[in-house]
Amino acid sequence: MAAANGQGAVPHEGEGRTREAIKPARCEGTAVSVYSVVFLPTLACNCTCTHCFERTGPVTMGESRWRMVFGEVRELADLVRCRTMRVYWQGGEVLSLQPESVASILEAAADAFAGSGVTVEHHLQTNLLLYDSARWRDVMRAFALGTISSSLDYPNRYRQTPSLSPDEYNRAWLRKKDEAECDGFAVSIVSLPNPGTLEIGAERWFSYFRDEVRVQNLQVNFPFPGQGEGLEPLDLGNLAAFMADLHGIWVASGDEIHLSPFRGLRDRMEGRVGTLPCIWSASCANSLLAIAPDGRVGQCDCWVSNFDGHEFGVIGEDDMATMLAARPRSPFVNRSFALARDTECGECEHWNVCFGGCPVRAFAFGGDMLAPDHYCSVYKEMMNAVRRHAAGLATTSGS
Ligand code: SF4
Ligand code: SF4
Ligand code: SF4
Repeated sequence: MAAANGQGAVPHEGEGRTREAIKPARCEGTAVSVYSVVFLPTLACNCTCTHCFERTGPVTMGESRWRMVFGEVRELADLVRCRTMRVYWQGGEVLSLQPESVASILEAAADAFAGSGVTVEHHLQTNLLLYDSARWRDVMRAFALGTISSSLDYPNRYRQTPSLSPDEYNRAWLRKKDEAECDGFAVSIVSLPNPGTLEIGAERWFSYFRDEVRVQNLQVNFPFPGQGEGLEPLDLGNLAAFMADLHGIWVASGDEIHLSPFRGLRDRMEGRVGTLPCIWSASCANSLLAIAPDGRVGQCDCWVSNFDGHEFGVIGEDDMATMLAARPRSPFVNRSFALARDTECGECEHWNVCFGGCPVRAFAFGGDMLAPDHYCSVYKEMMNAVRRHAAGLATTSGS
């Protein structure tokens, strides 16, 4: 599954660089410790979510291509000289494949990296509804750290299937979560606010996930307009107020839930490395790319499954070095440099955390990826809330 309207769930660590430190970077030849590939083996999906940004459909990668794909991913690891390659499996819905196919792809990845000295981690994003212990438990153990990433909204307005209404969807999802947990998996959640979320407020929303869903690892992600019709826009002022309230409630709760992006923001602002979503990286191009079922390579799932004309190339037609040097990749590589020079981001006090936000959110709302992220005002409110709290702690401990 796509995390629905902007994954943004691919994390990155470190990178507290200043504006001055940012140059139009070349990825090739620049060693990174971790690189990520968003791998879409299929665009088939059992769900019909209104806020899905993908052109879902019966397009699935064949065996001959997945062997080629992991050969190129190995080549990518050599080019960027990473020590860990994280493969984020997304769809469509990965569990709409046969378990045997997933097992074969995992083997192909292991074969491609044999003897490379590079660690390959597989991460899974799934809507969970097709989880069936007897079919999936053993294959899913190959995925990293025993954690499965899924998505759930509250109240649910948009997630559904042809046979499950949004309310029924959440109940079915909770049953599948229990089944996966009984098999020993932890389930983390990416959640997108909708206008109903803002109406019920942060307290009710947080208590739903803490007390009813009982999740330990939760990420709030913001939507962008994709393929679907019938989406109600989020009021940015109300969203900012919701996020500031949520921060206060999370802090008051004693940090029992790992709430992203607040945990990473807090770590960063208190001088620790911290893990933030890709939307707040100096250049997402320097840490990940995505591969579609037909072999197209682009910046992330948001681009290859939604917006045409931004691909870096096609596996089977272009080699990885050519794709990394492709002209459509350069706006992603150079974006923060252009934003710092040409927009209000250059004077922003949050620059060295935000770097102008996410290209796809800038492009999807305003048609220009070299503009600040549509959610700029919300990010400022969130970062101010975290900074105020960090400053308060520093004052208290210093007095
Ligand atoms: S329709 Fe499928 S791919 Fe799209 S958001 Fe829903 S679960 Fe994800
Ligand atoms: S465009 Fe970049 S920052 Fe935005 S979701 Fe994709 S990878 Fe992340
Ligand atoms: S908060 Fe807004 S102005 Fe500041 S860096 Fe981010 S997008 Fe740019």
